[in-house]
Amino acid sequence: MKILQKVLDDCKKRNPNEPEFHQAVTEVLESLEPVAEKHPEWVEAGIFDRIVEPERQIMFRVAWIDDNNKVQVNRGYRVQFNSAIGPYKGGLRFHPSVNLGIIKFLGFEQILKNSLTGLPIGGAKGGSDFDPKGKSDAEVMRFCQSFMTELYRHIGEDTDVPAGDIGVGGREIGYLYGQYKRIRNNFTGVLTGKGIPWGGSLARKEATGYGLCYFMDAAMKDAGSSFDGKTVIVSGSGNVAIYAAEKATELGGKVVAMSDSNGYVYDKNGIDLDLVKQLKEVERKRIKEYVNVHKDAEYKEGCKGIWTIPCDIALPCATQNEIDEGSAKILVANGCKAVGEGANMPSTPEAIAVYQENGLLFGPAKAANAGGVATSALEMCQNSMRYAWTFEEVDAKLKQIMVDIYHNASKAAEAYGHKGDLVMGANIAGFEKVAQSMYDQGIAY
Ligand code: NDP
Repeated sequence: MKILQKVLDDCKKRNPNEPEFHQAVTEVLESLEPVAEKHPEWVEAGIFDRIVEPERQIMFRVAWIDDNNKVQVNRGYRVQFNSAIGPYKGGLRFHPSVNLGIIKFLGFEQILKNSLTGLPIGGAKGGSDFDPKGKSDAEVMRFCQSFMTELYRHIGEDTDVPAGDIGVGGREIGYLYGQYKRIRNNFTGVLTGKGIPWGGSLARKEATGYGLCYFMDAAMKDAGSSFDGKTVIVSGSGNVAIYAAEKATELGGKVVAMSDSNGYVYDKNGIDLDLVKQLKEVERKRIKEYVNVHKDAEYKEGCKGIWTIPCDIALPCATQNEIDEGSAKILVANGCKAVGEGANMPSTPEAIAVYQENGLLFGPAKAANAGGVATSALEMCQNSMRYAWTFEEVDAKLKQIMVDIYHNASKAAEAYGHKGDLVMGANIAGFEKVAQSMYDQGIAY
């Protein structure tokens, strides 16, 4: 890197001890170097320096009372990263690993991802180090109410519209929305991922996983291939994983393994998704219970081992950095031909290098998993119209958006002389629109 090295160095210096944020910024800036060469006016206007600095970072105390009447304290975050093309938009993550650096990496990625959808939404992310696992519904409700009692003043349907992410599903969105409405006394689309009777969009729950498969399907078709008859591995067993597995199966693939943060199941007959949904969505149990029903399936402790199972297509849908260089090499050695990222940044930079060196078809997260936020934007649209589309209408729009994202990323890569490099293509296609908007809107003195 010549032009953008200083931007990266300054960013790392200003944000010490935030390795995930450094990783995300490094990957993006490396692929934007040719854009900086082409647009000296953007360099001059400090677009690159500005885009790596959040517009606003909010951190707050979340105190709540557990079922034993003990006071618990967590930390809440909302990073409003960029509003150049629309109101801030991005999920809330509740997981013990959450810290400012992780929220910033996710918020930064969200800027370009949201831009790629072609819809008018800026980038943000938030969450807390609260762990909903093992908590009672009443504890989760009290936590969510306390969290929203601070967050409400920073969000609004034209300002910032949060959604779900790891640990924040329909139950949490419900408690958060109830508290927002109580405090503000208005019924607006301030959160997405809402329940269908109270403003939610049909197909939102399915959108990230379905969208991932629509994206990969478009990319594979372009390369003369498809899901049909392929063996597929999906890591995770949460929202993204379940619906990625469902659509991959519908498109003719055979999903043979899924996981959670404790371990993975391998079912050579094909994963029984109804059982996974029952265990994970209804009973909130561990994936290992799967083998109690399907005796010939295998359960192994530890989640990394899932990548040692031979497959044609790998869909990592759990969490960041879940495929490292070693796992990527095993995937390649076992004949894997395509990797589509459902989770955010699930492959380390070294793993991505392995995919690229071996000519795998690689769908990077910010393009391949943009279907969730795209459908969230469709939920906002329906809320503004006070109208609801059918499942088929939303699904058709989602599919079109994902196919367009693939073609836009692919075209951008080709235009800059890197045909087939969807990492570069997605970063450039997402960035150009935001950069031009920031440029047009000037610098605040
Ligand atoms: P969920 O909480 O519904 O599911 C997460 C899944 O990943 C669970 O099976 C969980 O297992 C597993 N998991 C979490 N942390 C780890 C870990 N450290 N190691 C191994 N497995 C882990 O979250 P989502 O499905 O919503 O999100 C999954 C990924 O997709 C995240 O990266 C998220 O940012 C991304 N994403 C989500 C979108 C959405 O619409 N929901 C949109 C775009 C991206 P366990 O139950 O044991 O915790």
